[in-house]
Amino acid sequence: MVKIEIDHGLCVGNAMCVATAPGVFAHNENRQSTVVDPAGNGESAVLAAAANCPVSAIRVVEAETGRSLFPAEDG
Ligand code: SF4
Repeated sequence: MVKIEIDHGLCVGNAMCVATAPGVFAHNENRQSTVVDPAGNGESAVLAAAANCPVSAIRVVEAETGRSLFPAEDG
């Protein structure tokens, strides 16, 4: 299970993440991305969405360990 955080100070609402992982992300009324279900798509889709975000607003953390999956921790 992953934990997903979206920085609304950075999100520009271009919906790349919604297109990449539509089961996980949706726009709120301010056209900013929110997480509707962290398990709504596979982990690889979540990581692809984070990697494709043009302003790096998405952080993905392994829920059990707190290890950062995106951006990836060194080592
Ligand atoms: S891809 Fe990034 S900037 Fe675009 S809606 Fe998603 S979080 Fe916001």
